[in-house]
Amino acid sequence: MKILNFGSLNIDHVYRVAHFVAPGETASVLSYQKNAGGKGLNQSIALARAGAPVCHAGQIGRDGGFLADLLSAEGVDVTHLGVTDQPTGHAVIQVNPEGQNCILVCAGANGTVSADYMRSVVACFGAEDWLLLQNEVAGLPTLLSLAKERGMRVILNPSPITEELLHTDLSAVDCFILNETEGYALTGETEPFAVPDRLAMLYPRSEILLTLGADGAFWQVDGKRVYGSACPVEAVDTTAAGDTFTGYFLAARAEGASAEEALSLAAKAAAIAVTRPGAAASVPYRREIG
Ligand code: ADP
Repeated sequence: MKILNFGSLNIDHVYRVAHFVAPGETASVLSYQKNAGGKGLNQSIALARAGAPVCHAGQIGRDGGFLADLLSAEGVDVTHLGVTDQPTGHAVIQVNPEGQNCILVCAGANGTVSADYMRSVVACFGAEDWLLLQNEVAGLPTLLSLAKERGMRVILNPSPITEELLHTDLSAVDCFILNETEGYALTGETEPFAVPDRLAMLYPRSEILLTLGADGAFWQVDGKRVYGSACPVEAVDTTAAGDTFTGYFLAARAEGASAEEALSLAAKAAAIAVTRPGAAASVPYRREIG
């Protein structure tokens, strides 16, 4: 059994600045750092560090070879990764002394995956395999129907929410993993407690995992709900908390753990991630979790 994560790969260019650049202004930066990013890449790293058999598909440009090397070094299978002449997806991030940020995102290679490529990748997987998707790669509806043709179990993290996503038929999704903002966007419910029930009305046969930051998470299927609390920690950077939680929850479930056990492991892993700076770099290894 393998988890195919068909997702984004980004290069994050992070510039520390004295102030955000104003219209017409040219400003020097205080420092520059180039990081691996993309929700897809982060979740593949989380799955691999949790010990799951994960294969990452998606597309990079010629400038993105180091992302493939990084995934490979983590034990992620990158055999199916595509390379195009487009630039790798990237973000230009200004961070001011108050810690606020301004972000420009260019989908680049993530935005040009072809239906032929998707078909050729999904054809290598079968009914025992799972497909994990986020919403940072073009072609979500095509991937959903290809996965169903192969009988794969489909897990969707509907992030980021886009107008197109809200008009996409998501009935092929077997498991939704979403946070409060995404829950509100899909259901209109502002009360987190009400989100799983409302989502279950729309997609009655789907599993739902709703994460609530420091307030924990709900897992629900067939009217049965399980609550998992978060671990109390001093958070320094919550980037990739959800990606860590997703990777560890799915890895545990793939091993046959109950929802309760998977929630508990995922909460411990995410709590470690929020005590560390950075995205993929903050995801703990399984051996670090007590
Ligand atoms: P996302 O990053 O997708 O917005 P959440 O903020 O809901 O996701 O966080 C996912 C999980 O990470 C939570 O269910 C919780 O277990 C853990 N987590 C997030 N923030 C904190 C925090 N401040 N303290 C402890 N755990 C946290």
